[in-house]
Amino acid sequence: TQVLNIIGGGMAGSEAAWQAANMGVQVVIHEMRPKVATFAHRTGDLAEMVCSNSFRSDDDEQNAVGLLHWEMRAANGLIMQTADKHRLPAGGALAVDRDPFAASVTEALRAHPNITVQDAEITEIPKDGHWIIATGPLTSAGLGEAIAAETGADALAFFDAIAPIIHHDSIDMSRAWMQSRYDKGETEDERTAYLNCPMDRDTYDAFIDALLAADKTEFHEGETAGYFDGCLPIEVMAERGRETLRHGPMKPVGLTNPHQPDVKPWAVVQLRRDNALGTLYNIVGFQTKMKYGAQAEVLRMIPGLENARFARLGGIHRNTFLNSPTLLDDQMRWRKHPHIRFAGQITGVEGYVESAAMGLLAGRLAASEILGQPMASPPQDSAMGALIHHITGGAEAKTFQPMNVNFGLFRPVEGLKGGRRGRTDRYKAYTDRAKAAWQDWLVATPAQA
Ligand code: FAD
Repeated sequence: TQVLNIIGGGMAGSEAAWQAANMGVQVVIHEMRPKVATFAHRTGDLAEMVCSNSFRSDDDEQNAVGLLHWEMRAANGLIMQTADKHRLPAGGALAVDRDPFAASVTEALRAHPNITVQDAEITEIPKDGHWIIATGPLTSAGLGEAIAAETGADALAFFDAIAPIIHHDSIDMSRAWMQSRYDKGETEDERTAYLNCPMDRDTYDAFIDALLAADKTEFHEGETAGYFDGCLPIEVMAERGRETLRHGPMKPVGLTNPHQPDVKPWAVVQLRRDNALGTLYNIVGFQTKMKYGAQAEVLRMIPGLENARFARLGGIHRNTFLNSPTLLDDQMRWRKHPHIRFAGQITGVEGYVESAAMGLLAGRLAASEILGQPMASPPQDSAMGALIHHITGGAEAKTFQPMNVNFGLFRPVEGLKGGRRGRTDRYKAYTDRAKAAWQDWLVATPAQA
């Protein structure tokens, strides 16, 4: 019999092990804790929640993360079924009692007849066999270096400097306009690749004041190395001088505002397309450590972004992740070493739920391959499929940053009204379509006779 080896028993590794073992495959989980610690984990349990105790919205009709919950429950997911068992009251969110949750996941995996857990740190790239690397945002230094040696330093990041990402349909185009600086580019598409938001002097001054005053998060111990490598948070730039941003990411040169062609903007905020669908835009150079509440408030001062909806807010923290669009195929295999899959946060998704979801997929895909009945990649219209499609193909490789699941990753449903009212119908249509597609995929899952 062939064994599936999983490095890392976190959110992703735990779910991957459960799925593969239930399909009849022998699984070994290699987990370095409690022998080797990370700065965030406290215990030796599998699937430890390192920070908040929330799996976010549980609404499977109007929320993309709630939809992911639904899909994982439909696939007999261990993380979801254990979370349901240890649920705490939290309105529409799925909050869990973290210690019994992790203890229960650990117990279920250790008790499974097809699963063995080995306490060991792995620091080398496995040469043969079937493997899933699910070592998470705090992948140990030894393994991180071994991966980087294979991918090249550019394709493995150790830090996240995330600029906020905004839903395109929430941007006010009567104030913003599309234009690349100096109209650079060969094609019309390239000449209009950026979305620009102009600021006059008063708006800029007020914006800088708000940036300086905003609440910021502190760095964790051990997190700051590499932080000054060309990814300064905007508030740090503002602290260096009130004009710094106007000469940096907000410089107003090479751009003409068609709404006011005679007025030279004092500063311009640029947004760049973040996915092939054109539904998401990131704010160029706007990585920030502002707290989420303050951040949304400050960014909505930007003309054109008054009603912005954020697909994700900005942040900077320790996070090991691959440039998945260039490194992984749509089966989550490392193109260079197809006997190895990656799963979890290291693939460039963000969050407990997304990480567990990618573990679920990797576990099933690897097991089906071991069973000699390889499965198709999940359908793009499911939440699982939308995420995997984004990280392995849909996202721009050059600006790739970790992503939460959100409806901006979904293909549009035709024939629905826009606007706020239309949105409820649209999300319901996305989730209906996703559930049907996901169930079709699950039916095709092989099992060992
Ligand atoms: P993990 O759950 O971290 O699992 C990886 C496992 O691999 C760990 O058990 C680790 O010990 C093990 N490991 C690492 N290297 C090796 C090795 N070489 N050999 C063997 N084992 C190894 N997401 C949220 O949704 N909400 C939050 O509040 C949140 N807060 C976070 C706070 C911090 C400080 C960090 C770093 C991340 C946070 N995240 C949060 C993001 C992320 O969703 C979680 O980290 C999530 O646990 C990722 O799941 P994972 O399975 O990919 O990694």
